[in-house]
Amino acid sequence: MFREKIALCVVSLISVALFLSLGTSVPVRAKGAALAFQNEILGIGFFDLPDDTAVVQDQYLSTAYGVTVVDAKRSLLTRVEWLHETSPTEMNQVVWKFTESFPGIQIHRSRTFVAGYEAVLLWPVPGQVETATAFVLANGRLYRIFYNTEDEMGLKVFRSLTFFPPKGDLTALGLRRAEDALYDSPPWHWQIDPRKPSSEPSKASRSELPGPQPQAYTPPGCVDFPTSKFLQTQWAWNANGTGTGYPQGWSKAGPSYFGENLHVGCDRPTKLNDHFALDHPLKEWDIVYPPAAGTVLYAGWAGGGWSGLGRVVIVDLGDGYWAMAAHLRGVNVTAGQSVGISTVIGWAGGSGNGQDNYLPIHLHQGLYKDANLATWAGGIYGGHSAQPVKVHYFGNGGGDYWYIDRYQWMSW
Ligand SMILES: [Zn+2]
Repeated sequence: MFREKIALCVVSLISVALFLSLGTSVPVRAKGAALAFQNEILGIGFFDLPDDTAVVQDQYLSTAYGVTVVDAKRSLLTRVEWLHETSPTEMNQVVWKFTESFPGIQIHRSRTFVAGYEAVLLWPVPGQVETATAFVLANGRLYRIFYNTEDEMGLKVFRSLTFFPPKGDLTALGLRRAEDALYDSPPWHWQIDPRKPSSEPSKASRSELPGPQPQAYTPPGCVDFPTSKFLQTQWAWNANGTGTGYPQGWSKAGPSYFGENLHVGCDRPTKLNDHFALDHPLKEWDIVYPPAAGTVLYAGWAGGGWSGLGRVVIVDLGDGYWAMAAHLRGVNVTAGQSVGISTVIGWAGGSGNGQDNYLPIHLHQGLYKDANLATWAGGIYGGHSAQPVKVHYFGNGGGDYWYIDRYQWMSW
């Protein structure tokens, strides 16, 4: 607790310094200059896009329609959204509600101009990466813009943003509504395996595993999931199989492993702490179970600075522990629902930033202790990343993976 207070204090000092150094306005470019990207219906463009960036346009229509600029690792640099269902006159209430959605975080607020338009800038705003968020009034519309404050390219892309009068309306895009695409279900019906923990789970199967033994190292700020609480592998007997390079019912702990890529952070107060998150390659529509019984906290598209996670399901496992399954192709539960170990919470996919097939098909799975949830975004921040320990599997006679090693083979 004490250390958290110091950490928060340091973060707010840094934030003030950074905030000042960011400057409070964005220069207006000369009219007629060539744009590196434009979206006529959104009414925005970017003058410059650094090398190795990509613009991802929303495939589904939510209350916020937009585009996301991502780097080579598909991490958010800048996201621009038009809040097309919100009246620009509501800007002050919208900003207030947005700030209130992050309890425990002191968010600085300043009036400014973005590309010559009236705006409110907020910082720091929690996310999978930490962002600054600008609400901008331009051409009679209310825009919400997130930019990554940890990567100078985020600010660079934000500074190259311009607005122009839109041409055409949203219906011209023919987008499917995000809420309709949320509950997409597989085009076939699998036989479900009713899971029952074997009455006598085998002791450590760790010694039976091929390759080097896992190192049980828990970095400062991270925690171990308690061995007294049940955990299971999150896929079914029919996962992977023919043509996938994996035997049916098996996957691996990788490609992203503990501490790699976006799998970072133990107890950062304004970010998702995913040091111990794992990626498991699966095939599209493979069944996803919760890692244990619990109650669904959030089921839907991740928003704001968490947009890269796609469709997510967050389950409260009790005792302050939460779990998140991300990049799902479809969701099968709703918030408030109780789930057991045989409840299909969704299906594996590669969703992210309002698109399917945004990433290779895999299950991103994270465990958290005492974290916070921004409910409008399905966004987890703060708390601690928890290491999966003693993960029960049902296939092959059943057993437990005590620690998960890099690229470890894991059974259903
Ligand atoms: Zn991942």
